[in-house]
Amino acid sequence: MIISKKKDRGKLLQTLDRYDSFYLIGCSECASLCGTGNDEALKEMAEDLKAKGKTVTGMIVPKTGCQTLGTKVELKKDKDALDKTDAIVVMSCGAGTQSAVEIYPDKAVYPSNDTMFLGNMTRFQMFDERCTLCGECVLDMTGGICPVTNCPKGLLNGPCGGTKDGNCEVSAEIKCAWVRIYERQKRLGELDKMTEILPPKDWSAKQAPHKLYTRGDAAEGDRKDKK
Ligand code: SF4
Ligand code: SF4
Repeated sequence: MIISKKKDRGKLLQTLDRYDSFYLIGCSECASLCGTGNDEALKEMAEDLKAKGKTVTGMIVPKTGCQTLGTKVELKKDKDALDKTDAIVVMSCGAGTQSAVEIYPDKAVYPSNDTMFLGNMTRFQMFDERCTLCGECVLDMTGGICPVTNCPKGLLNGPCGGTKDGNCEVSAEIKCAWVRIYERQKRLGELDKMTEILPPKDWSAKQAPHKLYTRGDAAEGDRKDKK
């Protein structure tokens, strides 16, 4: 899931002060799990705006904010409210915010959150990064533990010389990723994988902006439109 956290509310309200009316858009997926884009978060934002003398014309928690077409359909029911709104505040990740920008190209759109990383919710409201979206996954060779993300140096072929008592030299609070990988490979009886040298990563696979069109019938024109 995409992990987001709320922006400093005081600064955000200062930024929004130039507008009088707002429509709030959350997201029922990641941002709801993060508590940054669920019903409660939207209601809290609405209260804060009203306390500043602003008008909230409406709000919605769409199913998936980054699914642009689906969000567009969901927003249609509030077209009148949106038309008379000065600005939209999107309470999801940056992708959801840019859905609103695409749907309402002539309206001001502001994010209420900072988008942090791709990770897992390990316990309620506790999030750990799991993947840095390198574009060339090596989990099959590392026992399912990502060295690109879990090793601060992103080492692909075993630990650096700084591992101490199984912990990372960069932070003693985290276990060395390569100790974890070794222990897991050992449990799986796959230690032979530790002897295989992984080639240098092709970092060009991480070059943004990415595009991936898996629909065979996607017209060339569609692709150009998205450039
Ligand atoms: S190897 Fe790359 S794609 Fe696979 S989990 Fe790690 S960062 Fe993500
Ligand atoms: S101690 Fe382990 S996790 Fe830390 S930088 Fe070295 S190899 Fe990476």
